[in-house]
Amino acid sequence: RHNECPVCDFDGETWDELLDHCREEGCRTVCRGCDGGHGSHWESECDAYWEHLDEHNVCTQCERHFSTPDNLTHHRLTHCAATYECLGCDRKFKTYGGMIIHLEYGTCDSGVDHLDLNATAAECRMWSHFIDEDYREDMLDSNDLQDIYSDKVYPYKCPTCDAAMPKLSSLFQHVESPACGQTLNEGAIGRLRRFLYSRYG
Ligand SMILES: [Zn+2]
Ligand SMILES: [Zn+2]
Ligand SMILES: [Zn+2]
Ligand SMILES: [Zn+2]
Ligand SMILES: [Zn+2]
Repeated sequence: RHNECPVCDFDGETWDELLDHCREEGCRTVCRGCDGGHGSHWESECDAYWEHLDEHNVCTQCERHFSTPDNLTHHRLTHCAATYECLGCDRKFKTYGGMIIHLEYGTCDSGVDHLDLNATAAECRMWSHFIDEDYREDMLDSNDLQDIYSDKVYPYKCPTCDAAMPKLSSLFQHVESPACGQTLNEGAIGRLRRFLYSRYG
């Protein structure tokens, strides 16, 4: 599989890896919402990109595309309003995924860390929708998967598109991105959020 950067000699194993590279290195300007969430990359600061933002009513914060300028204006309001209070302390975050990162790194006063989150997610009644069963036992036992497996592990998966994720925060970041139709409140993800809240909130 080749996903070559047109600017440098980077060659990604996946399309997503290439997009991440372009964004991090600034090789190309990424628009995650293009092609129904598949994403695309553009020559940095080129006219075609600016025209694209205009033509497709692109939200520059989350890169979602909207059918009309009105829909975009309406959508922008949700960014101002969206704040997620930490499940363990009173810090606030712009995204739910950002709040989970804060917990995973063990930076929260509550002492909750990624092992606690893994164990709780694995206990949720709808676990099979977002956790790979191969890893569930270790997660329930609060074992650190990274210590057990030498390769990078992807214990989480998106209930909607099946994309595999290394961490709970990556799952929520995926759900909050335009890459997927899954939302924060629906189905197994909504259930998981309510379960986390009941446990820590
Ligand atoms: Zn590059
Ligand atoms: Zn686009
Ligand atoms: Zn947006
Ligand atoms: Zn906190
Ligand atoms: Zn998905």
